[in-house]
Amino acid sequence: MMYKVIDFSKFSSIKIGPKLKVKLITQENFEEEFLIGRATNTLISNTPKNIGILDDKYKFIEIKGNILRVGAKVQNRMLYNFCKRNNIGGFEFLAKLPGSVGGSIKMNAGVKKEEISNNLKAIRTVSGWIEKDALEFGYRKSNIKEPVFEAVFEIKRGYDKNLDEYLLKLRLNQPKEPSLGSVFKNPKGDFAGRLIESVGLKGMKKGGILISPIHANFFVNIGGGSFEDMLYLINLAKKRVFEEFGIRLEEEIVIV
Ligand SMILES: Cc1cc2nc3c(=O)[nH]c(=O)nc-3n(C[C@H](O)[C@H](O)[C@H](O)COP(=O)(O)OP(=O)(O)OC[C@H]3O[C@@H](n4cnc5c(N)ncnc54)[C@H](O)[C@@H]3O)c2cc1C
Repeated sequence: MMYKVIDFSKFSSIKIGPKLKVKLITQENFEEEFLIGRATNTLISNTPKNIGILDDKYKFIEIKGNILRVGAKVQNRMLYNFCKRNNIGGFEFLAKLPGSVGGSIKMNAGVKKEEISNNLKAIRTVSGWIEKDALEFGYRKSNIKEPVFEAVFEIKRGYDKNLDEYLLKLRLNQPKEPSLGSVFKNPKGDFAGRLIESVGLKGMKKGGILISPIHANFFVNIGGGSFEDMLYLINLAKKRVFEEFGIRLEEEIVIV
């Protein structure tokens, strides 16, 4: 069995987590491990159990006619660059969206109306190929429970430079420090960041984690931030927003 040692305090985008021996997952050896992609949306505790990461054989991109076949370990940025070079549209939103293709499909990652499920045709999991029609995708969620090893997308149009530039502009007000992106999903008709700011938590600090003064739905690691610091601020934000507005904030990030 193949394993790899990963120091999650360096690997994860928020720079939190222990050094762990993780199993390199293939379709043949998967046994209910918790799969990590690039850990850009996952908060990893000090003692996570049974962690796996995809084997490198799931890092490929191929074009056949109007079909794009992509290994789930491919990083979003790699797919974005490939599509731009080959005049393929529909992936412009991946320019600054960190993470892997597999993690992004599971989370139905996206920016505004651009979501990874839009051009998706099918995924290959341990149970074999599953067509998109048999899957459910919603706002930053899907009903996918198994590892995704690869995916096929339909190429519907060419690369759109204007859309790319427009989506990049939306990122200008994002904090630059290590984070997991948005911590909470936006509740219907409102913004999690606005609610957290309204209860006075913007700029609040616990240990090495700061609720960003730029965007209150980004909790950033300003140095030495821990799993416990994150959890404390997540629970505090949920409690205060519920007390003040009766709204239950729901995590967008995954905690393991
Ligand atoms: C600065 C910053 C900005 C961000 N901006 C955005 C944004 O604009 N829009 C947005 O949607 N997200 C955003 N994110 C969140 C994150 O980038 C996305 O959710 C990304 O798709 C997660 O990919 P990942 O590989 O890191 O997933 P991980 O965090 O590793 O995993 C996330 C979930 O996917 C599962 N998973 C991972 N790989 C697979 C696989 N191969 N098969 C099945 N399940 C898998 C994991 O088990 C976990 O449940 C941002 C994050 C950061 C740090």
